[in-house]
Amino acid sequence: MSRDPRHDILFEPVRIGPVTARNRFYQVPHCSGMGFVLPQTLAAMRATKAQGGWGVVNTEYCSIHPTSDDAPYPYATLWDADDIKNHALMVEQVHAHGALAGVELWHGGDGVASPNSLTREVPLGVQSLPGGRVCDPVQSRAVDKSDIRELRRWHLAAARRAKEAGFDIVYVYACHGYLLDTFLSPVLNTRTDEYGGSLANRVRLVRELIEETKEAVGDACAVAVRFAADPGAGESAEERREMFSLLSELPDLWDITVQEYSLEMGSSRYVKEAALEEKIAYVKSLTTKPVVSVGRFTSPDTMVSQVRRGVLDFIGAARPSIADPYLPTKIDEGRLDDICECIGCNICYSGDGRGVPIRCTQNPTMGEEWRRGWNPESIAVNGSDEAVLVVGAGPAGLEAARALGQRGYSVTLAEATRELGGRVTAESRLPGLEEWARVRDYRVQQLQKMPNVEIYRASRLTGEDLLSFGFSRIALATGAHWRSDGVGRWHQAPLTDLGPPEHIYTPDDILAGRALEGEVLVYDDDHYYMGAVVAEKLRRDGHAVTLVTPQSLVSAWSVFTDEQQRTQRKLIDLGVEIVVSHALDGFDGREVRLVCVFSERCVVRSVQSLVLVTARLPDDVLHVDLAGRPEALQANGITSVTRIGDCLAPATLASAVYSGHRYARELDEPDGGDVPFRRERVTV
Ligand code: ADP
Ligand code: SF4
Repeated sequence: MSRDPRHDILFEPVRIGPVTARNRFYQVPHCSGMGFVLPQTLAAMRATKAQGGWGVVNTEYCSIHPTSDDAPYPYATLWDADDIKNHALMVEQVHAHGALAGVELWHGGDGVASPNSLTREVPLGVQSLPGGRVCDPVQSRAVDKSDIRELRRWHLAAARRAKEAGFDIVYVYACHGYLLDTFLSPVLNTRTDEYGGSLANRVRLVRELIEETKEAVGDACAVAVRFAADPGAGESAEERREMFSLLSELPDLWDITVQEYSLEMGSSRYVKEAALEEKIAYVKSLTTKPVVSVGRFTSPDTMVSQVRRGVLDFIGAARPSIADPYLPTKIDEGRLDDICECIGCNICYSGDGRGVPIRCTQNPTMGEEWRRGWNPESIAVNGSDEAVLVVGAGPAGLEAARALGQRGYSVTLAEATRELGGRVTAESRLPGLEEWARVRDYRVQQLQKMPNVEIYRASRLTGEDLLSFGFSRIALATGAHWRSDGVGRWHQAPLTDLGPPEHIYTPDDILAGRALEGEVLVYDDDHYYMGAVVAEKLRRDGHAVTLVTPQSLVSAWSVFTDEQQRTQRKLIDLGVEIVVSHALDGFDGREVRLVCVFSERCVVRSVQSLVLVTARLPDDVLHVDLAGRPEALQANGITSVTRIGDCLAPATLASAVYSGHRYARELDEPDGGDVPFRRERVTV
């Protein structure tokens, strides 16, 4: 196959100051949950993207000095010579695959981050303000002129280190609420010196940093500026444009974004492809320098349209490059069917907030490039000629079958229902989750091309079937179902006062279309998306809905996927009544009893239908059946029966896909031992 000529424009080289990108595919800086702690892990992850054809591959935010410390959120550092060595690991590998490497120099200030919990340096601010993403009880001190001089020196020193590490692009990072952004803000910047007041004064620091960085490293490195195109608090759109005009020709590249993070990296529940265009399109008319921005671009036609219409010069991507590091190569080779499209779930972002390396729902190899040596496009050939039976075609079963098929195994995939996709097919019918069906679609598309994989629908298998079919290796991917007894995070034993069953529902019932009566109470003790999505669906269906949760926020865990605020706002806008900090205590079909989690005070409400979104139970009857009959297994030549995905332990879609993938990778391979991956650590 060859590239569609319509997509040729995406593969034109583009000059950025003193360097040239081989094409228009640009991985913008994005957090990885790895930072300075895991340099090998990081280098291998970024290198995989270069290998997959990205023209530019950037680091995450990279601190220039210990006064900029975001711990416990992982960030990169360029503080000293050791950091240069660590970054050189990434740069060399990125260069080896023909891409440019960029580094996003960063000072956190006090705007949204940098309580400096690790370094214990006093945070610096444009004024003295409280900071920290989790309301840390610390404030910054206002920087004076000598601090600003120091800040410029640190930035310069970091830029020089970046050049020494071999980077091709060095950023001045002037958005996302960090220190430079606060200087731009007419609200936060209350200074009366030459760094505050007029527009020219507020951009002074950014201007100085751009000029000084160019002066210091501009012979070899392009200087990029990350900047929000739309107005911040207290600004008009005209002022923002004017601000941009004051700087427009100074850097070699503009990396343009918007003020609202939950729009910039909006989850697909709320934000669709190319959503930033309206706010950023004007930028190109005010600068001759190349412009990059993001939009969760996965469609090459949309990408081409962005370039042709003069919106962007580079197709910026974080998530599409995470879900498919080989996206550019696949477009280049005309293999559009093989693109593994991001579903916009933001699980990747959740790693940063929890201080762990990035994971991706669509790409189970993300973050495993170094420690397990996984690559999304290559896999070892089959370790034996044995045929494999995979039971259940949800995300785990589909991924196991796909990766086993890729290894060359002869695979039979049996699914009880007529539909493939299991829970992801069902859930993608819920409001806002349509794009999640891509988890199924990518895999089904791949499986259909594999002559060594056979799929049987409407085939609910029994233990007897498994014994008699003659497969020596069996993977059970039979999923899980929601509990209806109240057990979840709050209640660890079934609720005794919970009746009658005909008034009690689970998400499985809602997904199956079981009719509800009267007022509905959704009890969410799961805290991710399901409670809110079910409440939204039922409200849209016309029910009066109350959502109750023992947490103090709706969908509390979704702060990590940056969906929480939008979710709570949406339910409020839809007229869903929200009761937080209350646990379910009992229900009799007419009234529900709730208890305040702090005061233990009880409230009673009239409801006819109770939806329990609490926890799930594995559907593992086949496992229980076979595990109880070792002689029968032996007699039938069955050497391995392995549970994968939710059937082993209910979790996220990402976990199910990973579980299926891992099973396929490890089948017939030598045992990896107690610690089945490499670890990065300092030894003394
Ligand atoms: P996971 O997220 O772990 O992939 P799912 O619940 O999404 O799990 O998918 C499990 C799939 O297994 C469902 O499509 C279900 O219909 C199927 N399944 C369950 N039991 C059997 C069985 N005995 N035989 C074949 N398929 C089954
Ligand atoms: Fe896309 Fe979800 Fe993967 Fe992030 S985790 S890249 S949002 S599929």
